[in-house]
Amino acid sequence: MLRQVAEGVLIHESEFCQSNAVVVQGRAGALLIDPGVLGDEMAGLANDLRELDQPVVAGFSTHPHWDHLLWHARLGAAPRYGTARCAAAARDQMSGAGWQARVAEWIPPDIAEQMSWDLFGLITGLAADTARIPWDGPHVRIIEHQAHAPGHAALLIEERGVLVAGDMLSDVLIPMLNLDPTADPVEDYLAGLQLLESVADDVDVIVPGHGSVGGADQARARIDQDRGYVQAVRDADAVADQRVGPAAKDGWDWVAGVHARQLQGLAQRK
Ligand SMILES: [Zn+2]
Repeated sequence: MLRQVAEGVLIHESEFCQSNAVVVQGRAGALLIDPGVLGDEMAGLANDLRELDQPVVAGFSTHPHWDHLLWHARLGAAPRYGTARCAAAARDQMSGAGWQARVAEWIPPDIAEQMSWDLFGLITGLAADTARIPWDGPHVRIIEHQAHAPGHAALLIEERGVLVAGDMLSDVLIPMLNLDPTADPVEDYLAGLQLLESVADDVDVIVPGHGSVGGADQARARIDQDRGYVQAVRDADAVADQRVGPAAKDGWDWVAGVHARQLQGLAQRK
């Protein structure tokens, strides 16, 4: 079921990890950002879009993690964009024998059964200086940074005041650092947050990749919360963050495990 969060901007929330697919209505059809995970849900989304007379005319993946790279045949064959780095990282994951099994190590088995690998990761990279998604609809600014994943893009739907944050600014997930040896997990994350802060005054609605949609007051609050977490783990300070404490939302207690692994990962890099 689609829910409107701003004029011409609708979301579908998945049963998997409260993932948000975002639909932006355009002149000839919709832009679909991070379409979802479960095959049934994406087929349902395709039906909903047909009823709205909004065929998908463009897709976008905010970053090259498996749960943001899926597609469904019924969504059609529109170009699916990402940043050049996102597309390159998706291609890398899909190279060599056995790539599917390697990616599947990240996927809970019950979810893997409900998704399709067809059309996985077929992303067209946009040149590094591309300011906006090329499509016939409201201007969507690309804010690329290297927090969380290479070539991660937040998207600002300018005329609607909607920030599609990808896997940042969540009320349920802590900042998930990119611990790849080639990344600078803490500084990349802080730089990403700074870019988001530079547009915060233009934001009326935030849509995180996973979690609850927030209003204007949430833009800066969530940026501050994420920055507080990253600075605390950087400085080895005690982390006072409700997302990893006893007040974590029901079903999200596993995030404390992610937190523990991140602390370990950061310590090993020193
Ligand atoms: Zn991610």
